[in-house]
Amino acid sequence: MVKAVVGACWGDEGKGKITDMLAEEADIVVRFQGGANAGHTIVNDYGKFALHLLPSGSFNQNVTNMIGNGVALDIPQLVKEIEEVVSKGVPRPNIVVSERAQVLMPYHKLFDQYEEERLSDRQFGSTKSGIAPFFSDKFSKIGFQVWELFEEDSLKEKIKNVLEVKNLMLEHIYHKPLLDAEELYATCKEYAEMIRPYVIDSVSFMHNALKEGKTVLLEGQLGSLKDPDFGIYPMTTSSSTLAGYGAIGAGVPPYEIKEIITVVKAYSSAVGAGAFVSEIFGEEADELRRRGGDGGEYGATTGRPRRMGWFDCVASRYGCRVQGTTGVAFTVLDVLGYLDEIPVCVGYDIDGEVTKDFPTTGRLERAKPVLKVLPGWKQDIRGIKKYEDLPENCRNYIEFIERELEVPIKIVSVGPARHDIIMK
Ligand code: GDP
Repeated sequence: MVKAVVGACWGDEGKGKITDMLAEEADIVVRFQGGANAGHTIVNDYGKFALHLLPSGSFNQNVTNMIGNGVALDIPQLVKEIEEVVSKGVPRPNIVVSERAQVLMPYHKLFDQYEEERLSDRQFGSTKSGIAPFFSDKFSKIGFQVWELFEEDSLKEKIKNVLEVKNLMLEHIYHKPLLDAEELYATCKEYAEMIRPYVIDSVSFMHNALKEGKTVLLEGQLGSLKDPDFGIYPMTTSSSTLAGYGAIGAGVPPYEIKEIITVVKAYSSAVGAGAFVSEIFGEEADELRRRGGDGGEYGATTGRPRRMGWFDCVASRYGCRVQGTTGVAFTVLDVLGYLDEIPVCVGYDIDGEVTKDFPTTGRLERAKPVLKVLPGWKQDIRGIKKYEDLPENCRNYIEFIERELEVPIKIVSVGPARHDIIMK
């Protein structure tokens, strides 16, 4: 059976922690979209890790971790992350890579940077990991699947063809140094040797695993609001962040995805540009940022301070809905223990009319938050293991949000460590 762990909003909800925890009972963990542009922070018995490409099952010896065909595969980054976890004493993780995954090329990062430079003050706030140019190439059919790295003659020919158009753009649009086909071919040969030990036929692998009754976890990156179709387009990412896309990006039948666990954070944070209705500023935001997550809300990939806000019921309910959520993991609740009162956004006022339905981006940008203030619990809840032992106002907060989400909260996370968890 297949379970998905995905994000409800902008990402950074704590999916890494939930996946690492659920991986204890899984056979296979699959990354099915995105690339190395976002990070998961995981705290477990081995220490604290910021993973970008490695699936979060990598700390579990019984788990096979797969990079699915839907991922932007940055080969040197993957190898670097494997060596990093090994050097910190983690047993060498079990990694396999789909032969149909596409390879992120060094020029994808360059084009990402050049385009942001060209856009100047209109830029997207890209992490410059090459993701947008990569996915443009994939769907323009000038990308490279992993298997192509091993086909010497056709690889040479294809590099020549692809660089023809890339160099026209470099020369005439960006005015940057041109790319050399021989050099890129040599890089591809290096990539081939780096990735060779991990490459598998992922379609047969997944088919057989499911036939044998294995448990598969699909690990999402970012969240619903960054999905290119249902998110805050165009301030989204370039590959689908939805559990449904797991069927494609991991290569499993859609009807096998039985559980969709959407990770919802007890307050909001976002990185990059784009509308953020419940955003807060100034000292109020600084304090939440400082206390947030595990050691503050700063990007795992870029170190950028995250934008902060109160819990947004409108965005989160929508985020859960487009995921097809069967259960919510409600995270980072412990952080709110310092507040006397906790505002939550329960509606959007758009042009004088209040709505609870998440709008398209133009109207979203005009939305003002309608806030409701709930009482705080003024207590440290880390270490609590039973739902009944949570302070009453804390349970009221959870249950209020559960009603707003219209899906059951099944897991409550009250600290960064693997076992700071309450099963509700
Ligand atoms: P992901 O990309 O969704 O995996 O999220 P990130 O790793 O970017 O952000 C989650 C951050 O919150 C990490 O630093 C986690 O260690 C931390 N975290 C996860 N769950 C909890 C929790 O329940 N309480 C606290 N205080 N921190 C948590």
